[in-house]
Amino acid sequence: MSADETRIDPHTHSVESDGTDSPADVLRAAARAGLDVVGLTDHDSVRGWDAAVSAVAGTGVALLRGAEISTQSRGISVHLLSYLHDPAEPTLAGEMERSRRSRLDRARTMVAHIAEDYPITWELVQAQAADGATIGRPHIADALVAVGAMPDRSTCFDTVLSVRGPYYVPYHAPDAVEAVAMVRAAGGVPVMAHPRAGVRGRVVSDAVIEAMADAGLFALEIDHRDHTPGAVAELEALAARLGLERTGSSDYHGDGKPNVLGERTTSPAVLAKIEEEGHLPVVRP
Ligand code: AMP
Ligand code: ZN
Ligand code: FE
Ligand code: FE
Repeated sequence: MSADETRIDPHTHSVESDGTDSPADVLRAAARAGLDVVGLTDHDSVRGWDAAVSAVAGTGVALLRGAEISTQSRGISVHLLSYLHDPAEPTLAGEMERSRRSRLDRARTMVAHIAEDYPITWELVQAQAADGATIGRPHIADALVAVGAMPDRSTCFDTVLSVRGPYYVPYHAPDAVEAVAMVRAAGGVPVMAHPRAGVRGRVVSDAVIEAMADAGLFALEIDHRDHTPGAVAELEALAARLGLERTGSSDYHGDGKPNVLGERTTSPAVLAKIEEEGHLPVVRP
């Protein structure tokens, strides 16, 4: 296979956050999908890295180690992908741990309110998540599905779990611009995930993205299913103006979302730059 046929999907989730596949199963699924490189980017967690590394040889799929860092700008949620950072660097690791704890408190609060109207309990929500997983709304959704109150995760997000709904509670996350600098200081390569995913709630202005670029942002994840064609065109212009690279991904969550591995991809040239700038190497078979 020539280099430009290399298929790279750099943004996926495992059971270490809110995906439904184990880290090794993400690599097995990537092999079946015909991918050459997959990025494992669990929310605020690198706990899946070791298991994913162990699956590289058997699957023949190369691994880009990453995480999707929860950040915010004036209360608007911003997801920041960090690639190939040093997991032992204490500031970034500490911020991720703080977000994980805050997510747990937030989920407990949301569940207490939801339980007044739907037959779920905190224990049932916990039972939907793997030990040590980063807790999120998808686990609350799974509990609602388990008791038959909702048909699937997507329906939950459109109703009970909506950011615009009565049960929504925010959680602590670092400032997006500061987080870009933190990722760089940890040797990571920062990429703004789905910058114009309006379906999820409010999105930040170009000015915030410009400040993130000044702080060391590497790329915008332009190619993502949550972007309309108009949003893609705007982001292309913005990336060109700010000198940012372009990535694309599936944001695969296993059975938890309709996103299919490899539905959007990133070019080999951009992956090469990520590896050049990152502290860790891509793990190859
Ligand atoms: P949280 O991180 O707890 O705020 O929940 C948001 C997470 O839920 C994001 O990572 C999304 O990928 C996931 N999510 C959002 N919408 C849906 C949906 N319709 N179905 C399944 N998962 C979703
Ligand atoms: Zn997710
Ligand atoms: Fe995200
Ligand atoms: Fe994601």
